[in-house]
Amino acid sequence: MTTREKNELKKLQRKKEVRRQYEKIAIILGVIIVIVFAGKMILGKKKSVPTAGNVETSQKQTIVKKTIVETTVQEETTRAIDPNKPMIALTFDDGPGQYTGKLLDALEKYNARASFFMCGYSLKRTDIPVDKLLKRMDALGCDLGNHTMNHCALDKVSKSKRKYEINGVNELVKKAVGYNPKFLRPPYGSGIRDAKVQKAAKMPIVCWSVDTLDWKTKSKKETVKSIMNSAKDGQIILMHDIHSWSVDAAIEAIPKLQKKGYQIVSVSEMAEAKGVKLKKGQPYFEFE
Ligand SMILES: [Zn+2]
Repeated sequence: MTTREKNELKKLQRKKEVRRQYEKIAIILGVIIVIVFAGKMILGKKKSVPTAGNVETSQKQTIVKKTIVETTVQEETTRAIDPNKPMIALTFDDGPGQYTGKLLDALEKYNARASFFMCGYSLKRTDIPVDKLLKRMDALGCDLGNHTMNHCALDKVSKSKRKYEINGVNELVKKAVGYNPKFLRPPYGSGIRDAKVQKAAKMPIVCWSVDTLDWKTKSKKETVKSIMNSAKDGQIILMHDIHSWSVDAAIEAIPKLQKKGYQIVSVSEMAEAKGVKLKKGQPYFEFE
């Protein structure tokens, strides 16, 4: 072997050595990447399990399941309702109205939910995008409720009129979102304990435990005060989204309540979190 050949051989061996070193580094890097990814996946899965405390009933298990699905889909709108933390249901009657969209914006912003008890004459309005509003309520996870066609005292009318007042709203809501309203709220709370009304309802009757008297005070300040003063776990608060001051009051009260530790939930979310199985025709005022 000549000196030149020897040198060539040495060069080749050095090259091989360098290549081997590179391969080692590549393998080590690969292993690190795999470990990091696996770690992230495990941590991610752990994060999506809500800290709901003791999950005992099947209803609570449903909430956990739902939460896992939702957290995986969209991180920002994660909604884990903690049954051990206080919650409040804001409910809005007589709409939809021209301020309902603004309210839905706020609900979305604060990751809050509400329940809407709507009247036939409002659902038939053509000056506001009723169909869009209802679809948005549904997409946000709000409850769509029935408040009769003509804001009717259901215990003071004939059987056929009662049927029309309830079924009319059912049909209008179903046309927009594909399903019947979940709850009935008889106007004025009239007939909530009347067997005729309870039978005609064919759905749970949702009343309220706090009346903000927003329609009477016509004041945002008074309405906020009423909400904050009566805030308590399990309360169902009555307001009207047809009034600008009521919607503005809700927009102010929602973050205030959240700061105090309240979860702003729909009525069905509250019932589920409290482990209450709602029955058709039965009136509910609050969930403690
Ligand atoms: Zn009403």
